[in-house]
Amino acid sequence: MSIYRVSVHRIQGTVGYQFQNWANTYSCRPEFYFEPASVEEVRQVLELAKQRNKRVKIVGCGHSPSDIACTDDYLIRLNKLNRLLQVDTKKKQVTVEAGMVLADLNEELAKLGLALSNIGAVSDVTVGGVIGTGTHNTGIQHGILATQVVAITLLTAAGDTLECSDTVNHEIFQAVRLHLGALGVVLNVTIQCVPAFKIHLQQFPKTLTEVLNDLDTHLKQSEYFRLFWFPHTDKVTVSYADPTDKPVKTTSSWLWNYAIGYYLLEFLLWIRSIEQVKRSDKAFNFDCLFKQHVSDWSIPIMQIRPALEQLKNWLDSNPNVQAHFPVEVRFARADDILLSPCYKQDSCFINIIMYR
Ligand SMILES: Cc1cc2nc3c(=O)[nH]c(=O)nc-3n(C[C@H](O)[C@H](O)[C@H](O)COP(=O)(O)OP(=O)(O)OC[C@H]3O[C@@H](n4cnc5c(N)ncnc54)[C@H](O)[C@@H]3O)c2cc1C
Repeated sequence: MSIYRVSVHRIQGTVGYQFQNWANTYSCRPEFYFEPASVEEVRQVLELAKQRNKRVKIVGCGHSPSDIACTDDYLIRLNKLNRLLQVDTKKKQVTVEAGMVLADLNEELAKLGLALSNIGAVSDVTVGGVIGTGTHNTGIQHGILATQVVAITLLTAAGDTLECSDTVNHEIFQAVRLHLGALGVVLNVTIQCVPAFKIHLQQFPKTLTEVLNDLDTHLKQSEYFRLFWFPHTDKVTVSYADPTDKPVKTTSSWLWNYAIGYYLLEFLLWIRSIEQVKRSDKAFNFDCLFKQHVSDWSIPIMQIRPALEQLKNWLDSNPNVQAHFPVEVRFARADDILLSPCYKQDSCFINIIMYR
């Protein structure tokens, strides 16, 4: 099918565009694909969709491992609505357009001496996208990324602009902070930042039994604590990450970056302690070079032991199932965002990756 641009109504749309998510697991061919350059153009797409009884989806960077951004009707990418709009240096808050990619935001914040207090494993994702799916990282004092959001400007299906925050349209704010792309177009997002910081990363080996027995200590010991459990074994790599004033110090991360086989990776990582100091966003991110299937389960933190034991038992009784990568266990603070996996409970995320 060929791709061509047409003028629909007053805006340019593309016919024949194929959307593919990052992992190449889902794709779609929307009837029209748009890259609006202004809010007015977004509004025109919504108006057209209403007239023709079509649904509209927004796509960020397409990093969701699901088909959540797919549609047969109209697809909008906000890559041209990606500016830093406002900086409140006193409150350490920035307002950005929702199409802004975190990699660009991290650089803008660094210039201002600011940073995001926590981000996920990649920065090739948009501000609108990360809050859409409840993106999280780790650290029991820290909520999912959406908890850093203090205000949102939403464009509703009717074409109205709605401001929402803790004090204005509070209920809508609680819903739209994790919107699943289903509540309208997120136009602008105001984010609470923190002073720029570096992170001291330390990794060291333990057994699963030891880590589960000392879980509370680990959670208190390190601000961004996580663990990697090597299925088919009792081995765990504990990862501590904490703010530091130490100078930047990096070592090669080739172990992570190359597919050297699960069992070799397991052995090398487990025997090796790693220590690095990096700018915060560089420390949170890591190179996910390989296309993968991901399932990331959120459970109440109290359930971590039975959940991992059950997973371990299931693997033991299904020897034909081979793990491809360590199971990553992360933690997040309770919040009050309506659709959050951490709604009113401190939670633990169990992340299972299988390479494609
Ligand atoms: C390699 C890799 C690593 C990852 N690491 C993590 C991790 O550490 N932690 C974690 O929690 N997740 C992680 N993810 C998942 C990722 O953070 C989320 O899927 C996130 O939503 C992707 O952002 P995106 O901009 O690509 O959004 P998309 O996938 O493009 O869209 C996600 C949803 O948001 C909607 N949307 C996007 N922008 C808007 C807008 N402006 N208005 C309305 N709706 C909108 C879309 O319609 C869709 O429903 C990872 C994904 C990959 C591929």
